[in-house]
Amino acid sequence: MSAKIIDGKQVSTEVRERVADQVAEFIASGGHQPVLATVLVGDDPASHVYVANKIKACEAVGIGSVHHELPAETSQDDLLTLVRALGDDDGVDGILVQLPPPDHIDPDAVIAAIDPAKDVDGLTATSAGLLVGGRPGLVSCTPAGVIELLDHAGTELEGAEAVIVGRSNLVGKPLISLLLARNATVTAAHSRTRDLPAVCRRADVLIAAVGVPELLGAEHVKPGATVIDVGINRTDDGLKGDVDFEAVSEIAGAITPVPGGVGPMTIAMLMVNTLAAAKSRSKQS
Ligand code: NAD
Repeated sequence: MSAKIIDGKQVSTEVRERVADQVAEFIASGGHQPVLATVLVGDDPASHVYVANKIKACEAVGIGSVHHELPAETSQDDLLTLVRALGDDDGVDGILVQLPPPDHIDPDAVIAAIDPAKDVDGLTATSAGLLVGGRPGLVSCTPAGVIELLDHAGTELEGAEAVIVGRSNLVGKPLISLLLARNATVTAAHSRTRDLPAVCRRADVLIAAVGVPELLGAEHVKPGATVIDVGINRTDDGLKGDVDFEAVSEIAGAITPVPGGVGPMTIAMLMVNTLAAAKSRSKQS
């Protein structure tokens, strides 16, 4: 193996420690304790674990949390009423509705009900618009975590060829704006891209956000490239990324593992966003 491993666990720990220090400084300088409101509808076991981990992370960095757990049969109207009330609640800085909601609830309607000033998941149209416009705002946690990892790895982004495979609203599209803002030359590849290996081989920075286990192999990677694997795929052989780690780590200059790469960054960036939302709300009041 030749590639340097980018250790997401270590970087996420550093980010959380930084947030803990900044929360303490904010409070010491007269600020309020930031508060994250989490909303969970239904009984999906994975969603319960994700939300519990987010609440634990809040405690660890000194951010307060209030949790709302609603039964699976909650109506969309009732959920939207709660989300709007959290928007009006002066004691709440960030709103996180764990997605996906049960099938009878439209996730887009839920996202549209979130106060953009408290949109710590960076999912609202306002947050997306600010990001595309290159203006300050709350950035979706997973793509923000990818940039943090690239910075930690010392990857030069200015002028670099960056190829993102995947164009989802959650990961691929925000990464286009984030990498453009860092002056990379950005290509967004997707399921209709012709000759994916050739497009990917152009990349100095290759980011996979697809959801197909080990789709990207050695033939997709330029020697020495930095490879970031956002994919989390449960297979019979365990958790797999979108990148064939064994093969690609022989060629890449640096690579994130799965698990232990991008995954741990998402909650860390949620903490960053919640503090940022608290600071920006306190400035405005
Ligand atoms: P998505 O399904 O919304 O989007 C997938 C994208 O991949 C689409 O734009 C599609 O065009 C593209 N695609 C599909 N098949 C392709 C192919 N054969 N060749 C090229 N492109 C193809 O997925 P998403 O929400 O962006 O998630 C992508 C992966 O990242 C998933 O494995 C997901 O579990 C993972 N994920 C991880 C985190 C985290 O680490 N915390 C967060 C979000 C998503």
